[in-house]
Amino acid sequence: MTSFVNEAQEFLGSEKIGEMFKHFGIEGASLRVPSPRLEEILIKVSSGETINREDALFLMNLDRGEVVFLVLAASVVREKGKSKTVTFSKNVFLPLTRLCRDHCGYCTFRIEPEEGELFVPPDQVIKAAKEGAHLGCTELLFVTGDKPELAYSVYRNALARLGYKTTAEYLVAMSEAVLKENIFPHTNLGIADHDELSALRESNASMGLMLENISPRLLQKGEAHYRSPDKVPKLRIRTMEHAGELRIAWTSGILVGIGETLEERVDSLFAIKRLSQDYGHIQEIIIQNFSPKPGIRMELHPVPTFLDMLKTVGISRLIFGEKMNIQVPPNLNPKAFPLLVLAGANDLGGVSPMTIDYVNPEAPWPQVERMERALGELKLNLKERLPIYPEFISEEFLDKKVLDRIMRVIDSSGYVAQEVHNGNGRGKTKNN
Ligand code: SF4
Repeated sequence: MTSFVNEAQEFLGSEKIGEMFKHFGIEGASLRVPSPRLEEILIKVSSGETINREDALFLMNLDRGEVVFLVLAASVVREKGKSKTVTFSKNVFLPLTRLCRDHCGYCTFRIEPEEGELFVPPDQVIKAAKEGAHLGCTELLFVTGDKPELAYSVYRNALARLGYKTTAEYLVAMSEAVLKENIFPHTNLGIADHDELSALRESNASMGLMLENISPRLLQKGEAHYRSPDKVPKLRIRTMEHAGELRIAWTSGILVGIGETLEERVDSLFAIKRLSQDYGHIQEIIIQNFSPKPGIRMELHPVPTFLDMLKTVGISRLIFGEKMNIQVPPNLNPKAFPLLVLAGANDLGGVSPMTIDYVNPEAPWPQVERMERALGELKLNLKERLPIYPEFISEEFLDKKVLDRIMRVIDSSGYVAQEVHNGNGRGKTKNN
């Protein structure tokens, strides 16, 4: 027991770390001796095991006096698997259509047809891809609402004039087009079937769908996913199973603080872990905090506390173990992201030099230099990755034509080659 306390005191004794915890109200003086149950979990983790549901639920209820033990344990596990490296990708965020048939209570992305353009037309998509590639971006993040063609005839008709029946068909065509501009598409389409995913796989480096939460209770009246038929957890799991069958490197994750119970949050993490164990295609888990904006249905809903986020990130690391990539969005945690990295995260997601975060437009992305500086103070290095992580870059997870292009922009460890990272544009990349 003493050794855990000594280690935690030493951890907090490091000037920078102590200062950061203090900023959030956690100090060495408030450190308590861990309870026997906490000690049991810490011993389990230090022997290399991952934690189970009961352990995770226990850890969710830790208070400030004990949370440092969780953070330290998660930090050790992260470092074992990821060394001192924290990653990000340089991307262009492209909301192909903001129409959506769902009505999530926390959404600021969705618009009605009369509130803006129905979709981004092909010439603007290509323009954004060209500009992004020129600025050194390697990822073109396509985001859409869910199945707007089922809700809006005006959208359906406009899409038909371009020659497409569905948003998925349009995405397939645009993914093919941007790949030719030497930027790698990563598509977040929402619920998709086997054939749609298979067609997108031909040009996408990776794809994603947040599970958000596994609880069907959140579909009830008054809850976050009321009137959102695409948020039925079973359908989201099925989409991710198709992706596993098709060998698509996949990003998923949870939303924290949307009205879920702690049990539902933990169960959501374990649902993603099951997918990862069954198919081996989950490349990263995003732990995203709910962030309210004026005018949304959940405008007055409380935000998750810093302690809540710290515990959820730490617990995620201990559930998934050392190999999984765990992402926290730095723009939603501008002060706290270095501590969330200490608590087990190893990725800061997409950072864009040219577009805003349309999902969270009020939250500017921190500049890469600022992220580098903050992590440097913790003796961590920031590295640029592609939308697909190095461990998934293979014939198994990529169409040959995508893989060939990827091989031209990576270094020997699978990260973005230095000359591309420096923003010299694709004209100067290897073999081009
Ligand atoms: S599915 Fe996405 S775009 Fe549609 S309402 Fe929900 S959060 Fe908004």
